[in-house]
Amino acid sequence: MAFSTVNKEVFGSEEAFATVKDLRVTFDSGKTRSYKWRVSQLKALFDLTEGHEKEIVASLYSDLSKSETESFIQEIAMLKNSCQAAIKELKHWMAPEKVKTSLTTFPSSAEIVSEPLGVVLVISAWNYPFLLSLDPVIGAIAAGNAVVLKPSEMAPATSSLLAKLLGEYMDNSSIRVVEGAVDETSALLQQKWDKIFYTGNGRVGRIVMAAAAKHLTPVVLELGGKSPVVVDSDINLKVATRRIIAGKWGCNNGQACISPDYIITTKNYAPKLVDALKTELEAFYGKNPLESKDLSRIVNSNHFARLTKLLDDDKVSGKIVYGGEKDESKLRISPTVLLDVPRDSLIMSEEIFGPLLPIITVDKLEESFDVINSGSKPLAAYIFTNNKNLKEKFVMNVSAGGVVINDTTMHLAVHTLPFGGVGESGLGAYHGKFSFDAFSHKKAVLYRSFFGDAPIRYPPYTATKMRLLKALVGGGILNIVRAILGMS
Ligand code: NAD
Repeated sequence: MAFSTVNKEVFGSEEAFATVKDLRVTFDSGKTRSYKWRVSQLKALFDLTEGHEKEIVASLYSDLSKSETESFIQEIAMLKNSCQAAIKELKHWMAPEKVKTSLTTFPSSAEIVSEPLGVVLVISAWNYPFLLSLDPVIGAIAAGNAVVLKPSEMAPATSSLLAKLLGEYMDNSSIRVVEGAVDETSALLQQKWDKIFYTGNGRVGRIVMAAAAKHLTPVVLELGGKSPVVVDSDINLKVATRRIIAGKWGCNNGQACISPDYIITTKNYAPKLVDALKTELEAFYGKNPLESKDLSRIVNSNHFARLTKLLDDDKVSGKIVYGGEKDESKLRISPTVLLDVPRDSLIMSEEIFGPLLPIITVDKLEESFDVINSGSKPLAAYIFTNNKNLKEKFVMNVSAGGVVINDTTMHLAVHTLPFGGVGESGLGAYHGKFSFDAFSHKKAVLYRSFFGDAPIRYPPYTATKMRLLKALVGGGILNIVRAILGMS
């Protein structure tokens, strides 16, 4: 079952309330807790993806002119891998985790039991509208929750495809899609959820968190930021350049949360880097990149105008060293490199989220740490270097959601790494087991028997009991065991 504004069904507070109520009835019945249900729904997600690859590619093309290769690798294959990993690991994830106990509770055993939170809301963004909608849903299902997905209205073709496919494939008594924009999302946010998982910008992130606070609902906020790339001079320049391009223009034409936002390199090295970028960009996208089928278009005219404004800023308009071509009618902007942009320019004051790549130059590469740390903490930070000392310093001194040495964006594909931001770039993380954990409560469970009921716990308190309690607190195994067993 799916609500869709496209179909002109009204979705307001009443409908939002009724939806949560329905799902809570299912959750309370215990249905979503079983291993069998979780696996069946994860398999259904896999099947709906595998069975409709062509439609998914077509909807991504309609929303973003995304190339088939990017759609397949970065959305479809990633989602399928995520499903498969969850199915493979689920038993292991669900198993209680045995932990050590202390002498204070001897004899006892303890474990951490992962329990589902309840009814959860996933609000998704437009740039990877298929993957970013369903990847958190995998975690929600794996952890045994009922879930409402609200895809982004800015990717309408993918949103309606998700509503249709989840309506057909999933258990709609516990998994629903609500399509819509601000009104529908606001109606959903008024409800009491057991977790809200939001992907998007920090302004709306604050709205989500404020709404969640009313019900003491925990949140995951997957936000963005200005992800820097530091480029040293002792590197394989060709490989580095190709990897920077792949992470920038090869990821939805820079409209990706972990795309390189700007480069920092030395004044001396910058000309070499610019030449290499020009050579490789031309090799990848040809002499007329506006016509390249391998580059996504800008999502809509608002974002086109926003990016145009960044380029038209007086402080940077003379700094373009490559690209800068635009076609408003097709919402296309070519890969654009800007050299020596001032740090107080517009382009350096907000997340670019598009095909523009400014380069900042410094005298010494170590200065890059101050440049990065003087801004908000980014979602990702990259460095290309062979200098061991510099790598270590970068990892230790740059605070970011994730760090990659000698590549860009690839940490996203490693399921054993948490994916999420820090500070302004987000709150919480997911992927692999971290997704399961994001939607679980870690319940502390202590098992005791009736054996060893130490009288020193109980009044009347005496000097002897006090002595033993002190031994218990301070150590001294023999005394402690004697005390616990009531032998003194
Ligand atoms: P968006 O416009 O699709 O908005 C995200 C969601 O918020 C949508 O579902 C939308 O309906 C909802 N929304 C918008 N305004 C709202 C309001 N006033 N009240 C309630 N809900 C509202 O996406 P966006 O924000 O433009 O996405 C781009 C941003 O997201 C960038 O900053 C990017 O870095 C970040 N991002 C982060 C990740 C990540 O995984 N960390 C992934 C993708 C994008």
